[in-house]
Amino acid sequence: MTTPDSASPVPSSAWSRVAGGLRHCGARLAAGARWAAEAGVDTLYPHTCAACETELPDGRSARLLCEGCRSRLVRLDQAWCRRCAAPAGPYAASETGCRECLNEAFPFESAVTLGGYREQAGPTDGHGSLLRSLILQAKASGGPRLTAALTQELLEVRRGWFQNLAPDAIVPVPHFWAQRLVRGDLAPQTIGAVLARQLRRPLQHDAVRKTRWTLPQARLPGSNRRANLRNAFAWAGRPVAGLRLLIVDDVMTTGATVKGVAKVLLEAGAKEVHVAVLARSTG
Ligand SMILES: [Zn+2]
Ligand SMILES: [Zn+2]
Repeated sequence: MTTPDSASPVPSSAWSRVAGGLRHCGARLAAGARWAAEAGVDTLYPHTCAACETELPDGRSARLLCEGCRSRLVRLDQAWCRRCAAPAGPYAASETGCRECLNEAFPFESAVTLGGYREQAGPTDGHGSLLRSLILQAKASGGPRLTAALTQELLEVRRGWFQNLAPDAIVPVPHFWAQRLVRGDLAPQTIGAVLARQLRRPLQHDAVRKTRWTLPQARLPGSNRRANLRNAFAWAGRPVAGLRLLIVDDVMTTGATVKGVAKVLLEAGAKEVHVAVLARSTG
């Protein structure tokens, strides 16, 4: 167990949540570890859809979603911007970006996602609404099994992108140690474990560390998100010089988080950095 230090203050109001999180973290970490080991092979759980709990037809399928959920979730024809992963029209220029990223500079070379959704989704936005609700479900009750299911779909739908990229290693977005205890949410680690196993690439979960407590990005206005994460990530000492690295996270909104991690990796000597997220959220 790491102890807090003076350079990494944790708000006093958070300590009671840390204590509460301790009671649950063992079970959650165990669940995450199972998925790190299994990485998408459904042997330890009932053979039901990870999203709707419908029984899967063959009982031993490696898939974690039923056909009904998959057909509603995955749009194979959905174009996305190769720079920022936002949903894009069929004629969007992938090299120059889309309207979401036209004037943005990124420290990463490219990005991929299962799909996009708007934060203010309308009732007709069925695809995006389902993806958003599954992401939220994975943060709450669904946990690592649903995160693994969505990662499987990401890999299948964008298999060509992953094969072309052939990263040297996969780097999950890190959490501050105290935030891990409170949230018990290790979605980037689960995503990274599934991708590492399926792509047969090493998982570098300790390449970058988060140095301090930060507020959840989703609760902040866009203008405050960069300041919230300023100097929040640091290289943890593992050699990355000359490597092509793939950063993974569950949701990318403004991109401030993955930008912060990418900059650290580039400063440590990485050759190039790419990004894979389950969902791209836009305003
Ligand atoms: Zn289902
Ligand atoms: Zn874009």
